[in-house]
Amino acid sequence: MKPAPFEYHAPGSVEEACSMLASLEDAKVLAGGQSLIPLLNFRLARPDHLVDINRLPGLDRVYARDGGVAVGALVRQSDAETDPLLRERCPLVGLALGHVAHHVIRNRGTVVGSLAHADPAAELPAALLALGGQVVARSTRGERRIEAADFFLGTLEPALEPDELAVEAWFPDFAGPVALVEECRRHGDFALAGVARAGDRLALFGVAPTPVLAVPGDPTSGLQPSGDLEASPEFRLHLVGVLVERALAT
Ligand SMILES: Cc1cc2nc3c(=O)[nH]c(=O)nc-3n(C[C@H](O)[C@H](O)[C@H](O)COP(=O)(O)OP(=O)(O)OC[C@H]3O[C@@H](n4cnc5c(N)ncnc54)[C@H](O)[C@@H]3O)c2cc1C
Repeated sequence: MKPAPFEYHAPGSVEEACSMLASLEDAKVLAGGQSLIPLLNFRLARPDHLVDINRLPGLDRVYARDGGVAVGALVRQSDAETDPLLRERCPLVGLALGHVAHHVIRNRGTVVGSLAHADPAAELPAALLALGGQVVARSTRGERRIEAADFFLGTLEPALEPDELAVEAWFPDFAGPVALVEECRRHGDFALAGVARAGDRLALFGVAPTPVLAVPGDPTSGLQPSGDLEASPEFRLHLVGVLVERALAT
């Protein structure tokens, strides 16, 4: 299918992008397009305006700040995967990226776009939550930092206002044991269930509308995963219990 009609905008600065998001009715940010374009093509999203951020300067940097690593909104997943700073200081991010889709998709898809998309089965939101990272949002009203624990509100529902641009993600340094384990039908598919581990903090994904932090000692307590053609709720619950054991044994 083809997308419903929309108006395309290509701002040249973060300020211009924020002004557009503030003034345009029903606008969507376009980053790597790896999730948004399929949604448009299937007409599951029908925004009136697309604000393409790919020409914005200054958003393609990975840099150290505040005891962690900041990843700009235009850093492609494949670049983050091999970035020396992230490898050294936040190795969980690279582990998570190794499970995201395929090379061609990671060459275009952005780290921040994956967080902003807030897919419950995605690896990077779980990694951000396990590490206790943040997303930095900018608008004409200013800038705010949103804790990972407050960022994922529901399926495809990030805690971003319609006029906010996520300008970077921030992952705290973490030198303890990390793991990213998941089960999927084929490599590169979205996970049926998975676990991101940063020391004692386990973020479970694919088993709730958002990634969730496991309760210590009782990791699957309160979980009510949904079922679909791929897996029943009971199977998902069993699976995530097994994956927790694997993550802790890593
Ligand atoms: C075949 C296939 C398999 C995939 N498998 C996986 C997988 O296994 N695991 C996984 O995690 N992902 C998977 N993905 C999704 C992929 O990782 C996407 O790249 C990612 O989810 C979105 O990043 P993007 O930069 O392409 O964002 P886009 O598609 O451009 O945008 C996605 C959403 O986020 C919003 N957005 C993007 N950037 C910003 C920003 N800076 N500020 C505010 N809002 C923003 C957009 O408005 C849109 O709503 C797959 C995709 C495909 C096509």
